[in-house]
Amino acid sequence: MNVRQDAIGNIFARWRGTEPSAPAVGTGSHIDAIPNAGKYDGVVGVLGGLEAIRSLQRSGFRPEHSIELLVFTSEEPTRFGIGCLGSRMLSGTMSVDVARRLTDKKDVPLEEVRRDAGLSGSLEEVKLTNGYYKAFVELHIEQGPLLERQKIPLGVVTRIAAPASLRVSVEGAGGHAGGVLMPDRRDALCAASELILAVENAARTSGAADTVATVGICEVFPGAVNSIPSRVHLSVDVRDTNLERRDGVMRAIEAAGQTIAEKRQVSIREELLNADAPAECAAAIIEALSESCVRHQLAYTPMVSRAYHDSLFMSRIAPVAMLFIPCRNGYSHRPDEYASPEDIARGTLVLAETLAALAA
Ligand SMILES: [Zn+2]
Repeated sequence: MNVRQDAIGNIFARWRGTEPSAPAVGTGSHIDAIPNAGKYDGVVGVLGGLEAIRSLQRSGFRPEHSIELLVFTSEEPTRFGIGCLGSRMLSGTMSVDVARRLTDKKDVPLEEVRRDAGLSGSLEEVKLTNGYYKAFVELHIEQGPLLERQKIPLGVVTRIAAPASLRVSVEGAGGHAGGVLMPDRRDALCAASELILAVENAARTSGAADTVATVGICEVFPGAVNSIPSRVHLSVDVRDTNLERRDGVMRAIEAAGQTIAEKRQVSIREELLNADAPAECAAAIIEALSESCVRHQLAYTPMVSRAYHDSLFMSRIAPVAMLFIPCRNGYSHRPDEYASPEDIARGTLVLAETLAALAA
């Protein structure tokens, strides 16, 4: 295969087809991880993709469309405050201007970091054109318990949920925990507590099981036993497979914030950090995946990806789909993450046949 690396660190390995100028069929995932993570998330899609291509080569198959393995850069690391940096830039979801302004916590710009890593090209060259891929398919561990629980070895992903996230600051008034009487208080943490419950409620009442909302960070100032909380920072993460419904939940949270702020005489500021659109997977790829499962009498189920992946961003420039395999207890993002060799082999087999069908 011909290997190249782009200016942000994405790695492409291309097996040239007999029609090299035709759009390629892509597969791949990421090999980076969060701290204290497992070794299957992402890696299964990269090594599985590599093995799928090698077995097609060994079988004597000659693709018409080139088949390309992609190793996305910076899927998990959030050094610059954002995941999926490689696929965001490949797909143009993140513009070059925005990328140039990115700095890490120590104010080191992305430009400097990538140059130090030996990536010298220009960021303008990273974005792929709309017709670059005919199809992109990503093999991945499920990162949830459904396949294992239902004893189904394969999941064909039909939709990928997308998160929207907010940073919320609540400003009240601090004071002595003994001195300030209850009617005079503007306790920021009490207001934040109501908002957290409103976030939960907005997701619970959206009318769909696909809506989930989480407050994962709550920082309280000054954080002392004998001091009334004056300021609270919250993170809010809302995900759904339906954009309208997710944005409806975001509006409900905003409205709740206003009501709580008025009632409790505090100020609540909400800053939108990102709001990516969910993706609908491509029928032709879903069909190719399903056909391969049927051919090998492998049970499979259509499913939704609740975590987001590079494929979510690739969907902006190419038809995409994903193939899930079970992982033990649904565990992911922890060191005991595990997928069995048998499950990885099944996923790789179906991936290989799907690539062959799409590239024929
Ligand atoms: Zn992953």
